Amino acid sequence: MTMLDESLTSWLQERAETLDADAGLAGALLPRLASAQLFKTGVPASAGGDGASPSAAIGVVADLARCSMSAAFVFWAQRALIECVLASPNRALAQRLLPSLLAGELAGAPGLSNAMKSMGGLDQLQTRFMPDAHGFTLHGRVSWATNLQRQGFVLALAAGNLDGTDTSVFAVPSDADGLTREPDLDLTGLRGTSTAALHLAGVRLGEDWRLHPQAKVFLPTVRPMFVGMQCGLGLGLARASLHSARAALGDGPSVLLGELEALEAQVHDLWEALSTGVDSGRLRERPPELLDLRLRMVEIASAAVQLELQALGGRAYMRGESGGFARRWREAAFLTIVTPTLAQLKTERARAQGASR
Ligand SMILES: Cc1cc2nc3c(=O)[nH]c(=O)nc-3n(C[C@H](O)[C@H](O)[C@H](O)COP(=O)(O)OP(=O)(O)OC[C@H]3O[C@@H](n4cnc5c(N)ncnc54)[C@H](O)[C@@H]3O)c2cc1C
Repeated sequence: MTMLDESLTSWLQERAETLDADAGLAGALLPRLASAQLFKTGVPASAGGDGASPSAAIGVVADLARCSMSAAFVFWAQRALIECVLASPNRALAQRLLPSLLAGELAGAPGLSNAMKSMGGLDQLQTRFMPDAHGFTLHGRVSWATNLQRQGFVLALAAGNLDGTDTSVFAVPSDADGLTREPDLDLTGLRGTSTAALHLAGVRLGEDWRLHPQAKVFLPTVRPMFVGMQCGLGLGLARASLHSARAALGDGPSVLLGELEALEAQVHDLWEALSTGVDSGRLRERPPELLDLRLRMVEIASAAVQLELQALGGRAYMRGESGGFARRWREAAFLTIVTPTLAQLKTERARAQGASR
């Protein structure tokens, strides 16, 4: 069962290769997702959402990823930024931003990888803030952010104070003086996602743009939904690959059938564990369990694409005949390197195991 309407599914299926290969449809993607009212999914009704459970948003990510990882990741970025605004104690900012974010009229770009990594002691924070009479001045760089739409966006980032004792999370509007969006990164795929680096040279913000004064308090509250929705990316990709593999194998006997069935069962189990765990709040209270599922997600999606390759055989290597296989191969690579990257997840797991020994 899919949560997307048929017209959106076919719109995405027809354009999946273009959305991956170039930026030609980058401006059309967000409005198309918005016209299906997707950004309200899993947002409380009191905040203007559809009041569905959080797993519904993960389900949307999975359904989109089944058609196009570019679409799924742009949805993720928009919905992740909405999550930041929902979790912020700055209610005036939320009231200002939420209606246009939920309607998809304002693009949301979470540039928080660097902050998430630095919180885990794996990186230096690249942005600094200085308090002044009017609020704050920001300097630095955000190396990666997706959904930086040409017509405007709001970026979320974390910045540290000069002596490194405090880190705050800010929303930065795209028209702020001193903020430069660089040209789209020269990516090997997902080129329709409006992904670029940003430079901040003396960006002045009022106190009313601060999402939270303490990143180390705020980021753990949004991380479960960030990571949970990322699991949807791999679930959708795995479903697409396994569907293609099954079609390629047909009804005859195959040495691959056992692996195919095992992976289908793993996809089912991952979705069950994830959706029930997110909706009950269990995974929010147990971050290591959620990170384990996130790691499993990459393993399952990578194995599914590998199985699709084996089922298709040489056809998989033929342009125009692979039915999207080559794109899915690149999409699987993205799952390994989006924060938390596989290397970061393994680091966290090794630390946790070390601590329990
Ligand atoms: C298409 C695309 C869109 C993106 N969009 C966004 C976005 O919207 N927002 C955003 O914030 N980011 C975004 N990113 C960035 C992404 O989330 C990751 O931050 C980035 O890809 C990870 O790069 P990294 O080199 O830091 O990887 P890492 O895996 O952190 O580092 C790579 C290297 O460092 C080593 N390493 C890692 N951890 C350790 C350790 N503990 N000790 C020793 N060595 C270690 C690894 O072994 C490896 O050699 C995007 C990336 C892509 C490709």
